[in-house]
Amino acid sequence: MKIKYICEHCGSDNVGRDAFCDWNQQTQEWEISDFMDREICFNCSDDTTLITVTIAEPEAVLLALKNLYQDYAGYYPSMINNSPAMKAAAEILNLTETE
Ligand SMILES: [Zn+2]
Repeated sequence: MKIKYICEHCGSDNVGRDAFCDWNQQTQEWEISDFMDREICFNCSDDTTLITVTIAEPEAVLLALKNLYQDYAGYYPSMINNSPAMKAAAEILNLTETE
């Protein structure tokens, strides 16, 4: 499962950390040798505390939406019929409404 870091203030994932780099003569590249405590949000342009969140895989999101739609179709079909958002989601997911 993949993770990402987000800003505790604004929720943006446009974030970074301070780190030390050493020059590697063999590879001719800078290599991170140590991470510092300072965490930065480039959206807030300020220091922040980074929060770890898991990244939902697209397949899992689609399955959850399909299950949600089918639950509503089974128990609250009128909510689907009265919801433009649900109708749009059903169209994207290629689902059919139940009467
Ligand atoms: Zn932020």
